[in-house]
Amino acid sequence: MSETAVETNIEIRLRGAGASRGIGAGPVVPIRTEVDVEIPEPPDPKAAVRDAAATVAASLRSLADEAAAQDRAEGAEVLRAQALMAEDDMLIDGIDEALDDGAPLGDAVIASSSTLSNMLAGMDDEYLAARAPDVLEVAGRLRRVLAGLPPDEELVLDRPSVLLAETLTAAHTARLDPRLVIGFATADGGPTSHVAIIARALGVPAVVGVTGLGAHLASVSTAALDGITGELILDPSPETSAEFGERAETDAARRLAEQEYQGRRVAFDGTPIAVTANVASTDDIDRAAGVAADGVGLFRTEFLFLDRPTAPSEDEQYEAYAAAARSFTGQVVIRTADIGGDKPAEFFEMEPEENPFLGIRGVRLYESQHEMFLGQARALLRASVHGDVAVMIPMIATVAEMRAARAVFDRAAAELVAEGVPHDAVSIGAMVEVPAAALAADALAAHCDFFSIGTNDLTQYTMAADRMNGELADLHDPLHPAVLRLCQLTAEAAARHGLGVSVCGLAAADPAAAALFVGLGVTKLSVAAPSVNQIKAVVDGLPSDIRELAASAMALDGAAEVRAHVADALGL
Ligand code: PEP
Ligand code: MG
Repeated sequence: MSETAVETNIEIRLRGAGASRGIGAGPVVPIRTEVDVEIPEPPDPKAAVRDAAATVAASLRSLADEAAAQDRAEGAEVLRAQALMAEDDMLIDGIDEALDDGAPLGDAVIASSSTLSNMLAGMDDEYLAARAPDVLEVAGRLRRVLAGLPPDEELVLDRPSVLLAETLTAAHTARLDPRLVIGFATADGGPTSHVAIIARALGVPAVVGVTGLGAHLASVSTAALDGITGELILDPSPETSAEFGERAETDAARRLAEQEYQGRRVAFDGTPIAVTANVASTDDIDRAAGVAADGVGLFRTEFLFLDRPTAPSEDEQYEAYAAAARSFTGQVVIRTADIGGDKPAEFFEMEPEENPFLGIRGVRLYESQHEMFLGQARALLRASVHGDVAVMIPMIATVAEMRAARAVFDRAAAELVAEGVPHDAVSIGAMVEVPAAALAADALAAHCDFFSIGTNDLTQYTMAADRMNGELADLHDPLHPAVLRLCQLTAEAAARHGLGVSVCGLAAADPAAAALFVGLGVTKLSVAAPSVNQIKAVVDGLPSDIRELAASAMALDGAAEVRAHVADALGL
């Protein structure tokens, strides 16, 4: 994020990335995460490190249990991951090596944790890269214990406050009482960092990646922040405070109005528009059920396959899919594993690729991993007995791929019949996220029961802009007319062949984009659970000429012009 510090009197305006929706202002509590501790040299430093690691891991586990007991599942998950990290062989072996090279104990911990953290930070996998600060946090705790201190600093809030920090630690965020936190802002972190994940789960406004924040931590006393725009104002003037107060009131009123959409069905021009949830974990499924989403539009099954030494068994998968199917009366669309790209699996060897996003990813993997795909198909057919299950295939570029994928489902069904195992038929659709699929949507439609547009990848491949590269954020905008045209081609082909078409990429949760998608003929929008009611409200408020608005957007020069056009017409 670039620093846009403009000083007006004493107020300082900074900008980061909005990580959790909401607006807040109030007194600041700065959080110091760097601890200057004196570490003595014990007689057996390697044994001392192992003891300290055990102490840190135990304390993190008990914090995790506390968080879980208070229904803060994300916090508990982060703390458990950190507990594992504290006793990780790579960290401990690295400390041993530095000690063997003659480093003092305290420096050895810093050296090993920095190496591990830098290694993670350099990884292409956005999730793993975002874990880099966790290693440093764990190392800070190790150093405190080696210095004879308790593993944590105490952080006591006695009144509602805005928390500002270079890095906000997982341990801090997981223990905070959301009633006393007006908002977070941190200098580091991206939208997938643990702070962002926890802030969203707690419903606390957050701004991350605020360059330049560190320099002001010691001197600031009040702050205002907007978790949508990413604005952070330090020591706001009375005028700015009043403006943020108004924004907060508008946001609160909007949320209250959105609440009324919980469990309601919405329609446009008499056509029902389903607003479903995207889920990628069992917690997500609970949250989606909690907001009474109209079903699940995208169940990312990768969490069952990644970060483990062996593939999940058919029964394990069946249980997970059946549980999702049972949680909703509406349809649950489960995507077959989209492994590859930024999501390599550990349980089979993949040749290193020059361009993994253009490589063996999604459906392209199923031929070589035939047993894995067949097992998933069997599990899905079995789970469909428990609800309305549909299946979609990621990264489809050709009709041949779609045919091959369907043939595996036919074989799975034949096997289950022969074995007398209960199962049901499922609709099978294609994700339209490769431009070729959109351009040849008519041919593809003959082999599909529905289409689901994945705008994250469709934008990446259409604009040739890596979705992981923050510097290309302007190019990676799904409202670019080129991307919208591909969505239009897809929706038109679907209509000609009588297929339903949904959007399940992040753009479905962007009110302006959601409006245009409905105008193009999309009948299902699938979004993260916290956005379900908001998008229902957007759909319900659409004017009757939204089709014309969408058609005219197509003729504009670029994404910025489309956004301005929608803002003028709809105020979205
Ligand atoms: C997409 O590409 O838009 C999509 C929904 O899939 P994923 O983000 O999992 O690649
Ligand atoms: Mg995708």
